Order: sequence, then C-alpha cells, then structure tokens
Amino acid sequence: MRAYRIAIVGAGPAGYFAAQALQNRQSTEVSFAIDMFEKLPTPWGLVRSGVAPDHPKIKSVSKVFEKIASDAGFRLLANVNVGVDISLDELKSLYDATVVAIGAPKGKALGIPGEGLKNVISSADFVYWYNGHPEYVDLEVDLSGSQAIVIGAGNVAMDVGRMLAIDPQELVTTDTAEHALQTLHDSKIRDVYITARRGAESAAFTAPELRELPDIESVDVIIDERDIDGAIRRVGNEPEKSVKSNLEAMHSIALAPRKNQSRRLHFIFRHRPLSINGGSEVESVTFETPQGKIDVPCNLVVTAIGYLPSEFPGLLRKDGHYENQHGWVADNLYVVGWAKRGPQGVIGTNKSDAAAVMETMVSRLKEVKPGIDVLPMLQERKIQVVSQRDWNFINNEEIRRGVEQGKPREKFTSVAEMLDLLAQY
Ligand code: NAP
Repeated sequence: MRAYRIAIVGAGPAGYFAAQALQNRQSTEVSFAIDMFEKLPTPWGLVRSGVAPDHPKIKSVSKVFEKIASDAGFRLLANVNVGVDISLDELKSLYDATVVAIGAPKGKALGIPGEGLKNVISSADFVYWYNGHPEYVDLEVDLSGSQAIVIGAGNVAMDVGRMLAIDPQELVTTDTAEHALQTLHDSKIRDVYITARRGAESAAFTAPELRELPDIESVDVIIDERDIDGAIRRVGNEPEKSVKSNLEAMHSIALAPRKNQSRRLHFIFRHRPLSINGGSEVESVTFETPQGKIDVPCNLVVTAIGYLPSEFPGLLRKDGHYENQHGWVADNLYVVGWAKRGPQGVIGTNKSDAAAVMETMVSRLKEVKPGIDVLPMLQERKIQVVSQRDWNFINNEEIRRGVEQGKPREKFTSVAEMLDLLAQY
C-alpha cells in the first residue's frame, strides 16, 4: 500500500474537487492523506465569499465539500497563511505533492482616467464586502447617490447589479453580511446600469442567470429591444447555442411589461468606458458609443471586468493565471481552478478540471516520502490552526445565530472573533 501525503493550498471549490478526485482514486494499493491549508479560519472559498447571497442554491455545493472533509484521510488546516506562516518550498519538501488552488482574487484594472476616484470600487472588493470577508468589512461603500454604473457584462456584473438594485427586504432572509445589509437598507440607489463595451451578442452572462432576473419582485429590469434586435441581426442565422440562449433571454426581458417599480436595473450595450469623472468623488462615466461620446451621471462605479491572481512566492503569473502546463508547475507542484486557467467557468467547471490535473499528478507520483507532520511545526511557530472540528463549531454557531433571525447563517466577519469563540470550547 502506497500512502501518499498531499498538500492542497486553498479551501475553495477547486481545492475540494482536487481532494475529491484523489479520494475517488483510492484503492487497496494507494491512499492519500490530504492536508488542506486555508488562509482564513473558514473554508469554502468563493462559495462562502463570492456567490451572491440571493443565490442560496449555488451555495448548497458546500454539502459536497463537507462530505469530502469527512473522509478519514482529510485534514483542514485553516487560519494558516501559506507563503507567510509556511512557505511553498517547505510544503514541497514535506509532501509527496502540493496543489495550489488559491484562485484569482484581485480585480482587473480598467486603465482609464478616474479609476482612483472615491466610490470607484472593484467587484473583487465589493463582492467580498457584501459577503462578509473579514479583510473587506471596512471597505468604504457610499450608496447615498441615486445612480450606479457597473462596468462589465459578465455574471459578476450581474450579481453586483442585482445586489445594488434589489430591495434589501428581499435580502433579509439571505446570508448577506449584516454590515452590508445595513448599508443597503440606507441605500438611495434606484437606477443601476450594467454596461457592456460590446453588443448583446458578445455579453459574457449565462442564460440561466438572465432568465431569473424578471422574478425579482422589487426591480424593473430594462433592456432596449432595439439592442437585442441589432444583436440578432449581427449574429445571423446560426449563432452559437449559448449566444442564442442569451439573446432569447434578453429579448424576453426587453418585451416583458414593466412593474413600475422605483428600482431599475438597466442593461446597456456598446458603451466602451473612456473615463470616470469627478472631483473628490465620482460624478459620471464617459462612454464611447455608436452614436458618439456620452456622459452618464452616477455616484458609484463598480468595475466587474475580470480577476487576476495575486503575487505568490514560488509561482509566476502569466496571462491571468499562474504559469503551468495542464496544471503542472514544476517538480511536485501543481495548480488547479482559476489559479491554473484564469477566472473562467462556474463552480462545476472545477470538478472535471481538477480531476484531470490530479490524474496527471497521480501518474507522476514516485516513492512515498518519509512522513513529517506539519502540525507540530505550525504549533512551534505559534500559528493557531483551525481544524475541521473547530470549523464545525464556527459553522454551527453561525447557523444558530442565523436561525434566530430567519437567515441560513449570520457570518462571523472578524478573524479575532472566530478565534475567541474557539477559545471558549
Ligand atoms: P467574465 O465572465 O469574463 O466577464 C467580464 C466582462 O468584463 C466581459 O463582459 C468583458 O467584456 C468585460 N470587460 C473586460 N475588460 C473590460 C474593459 N477593459 N472595459 C470594459 N469591459 C471589460 O468575468 P466575471 O463576470 O468576473 O466572471 C468570472 C467567471 O465566474 C465567469 O466564468 C462567470 O460565468 C463565473 N461566475 C458565475 C456565476 C454564476 O454562475 N451565477 C456568478 C459569478 C461568476 P469583453 O467580453 O468585451 O472583454
């Protein structure tokens, strides 16, 4: 029996699916002891901190993650910052293989004038803010104006647009972080513009997300039928299936009767941002359109134009991800998820992708290294490791607090608070 020890860095979907792929390959001849490292005291990555709170069904994949974590050979080592508390080189020497699954958490920059103005926020920060990521709780978000512009035409832009437009009463039964709910309650924003630089035929939305928009009670979703007619003409008779479904969904929104709500979510196309304007605060965005340059007034801009990986010692960034060949980086080091392929794909995409990388990795595993446990090393360095048992305690406490308020959970948004809680049991 060969018992390999594998480190996975990052407890998001890609990390869990890599662990699952390894568990599925266990047999009487080979087993995998998996240590999953996570910077925060809480696992689940974007399922906790990225998925919009009004999409609880997508979050139910966390049950799959917990099942993976219940395997006897799985250990969660959370609240451990790889690269700071322990280096990638150390992991490479301690484990038979190391898999990096740390995503791409930085918002891409537009590179136009005015991007640094107050209340111009990247979706990378804004999404973490409403989801209660401990490092983004104090983000300054000013919702005192009436118009917001979201730049970008992907699913993140749609998430952000919905969260800004929706009546916060519709969010009180979700796990939106309490500080964000308070700010959204006081929001004066009534018109949110999701702006695409190209036509509707090139939008990166997916059809299921578009189709659910008319179900939002409190919001009128507004698409100009002429924009969709133009897009249909441009794509001709045989558009790609996904483009056809998107255009059908947008066409049906364009034709739907208005509810006459005071909250409106507008989709506007062929608006390429040229500059963000204002004095100390943002006042408008100048767009280039087929009709010439126009200024759209606004008090908040959220850029949702994609993500980039963070700097990480031991990995090189290239083309929006870490340099790799089908997931292999060098020696016994691998990457999966957005760290491997850049910020594309839905949560499920990570399953087949991670399985393929794990197949390559397993085929290259050699002699089992002599086992040295990382835990005493971390304890010696005074790192308070949060185990699966600790996380279960935090998780149950969040759910208990949520039940009291009719929510799925009330998240802890402070690392110190979570560690204090653990000190009590
Ligand atoms: P995305 O799907 O790549 O969309 C990025 C958008 O930004 C595109 O419309 C792109 O337009 C635009 N853009 C890029 N650079 C720009 C610039 N300089 N100026 C103006 N617009 C610019 O990225 P995302 O929305 O961040 O989503 C990332 C991934 O997560 C996607 O695969 C998405 O489907 C997934 N996701 C899924 C869900 C869900 O399933 N509910 C929710 C959230 C995210 P161009 O096409 O013109 O470049």
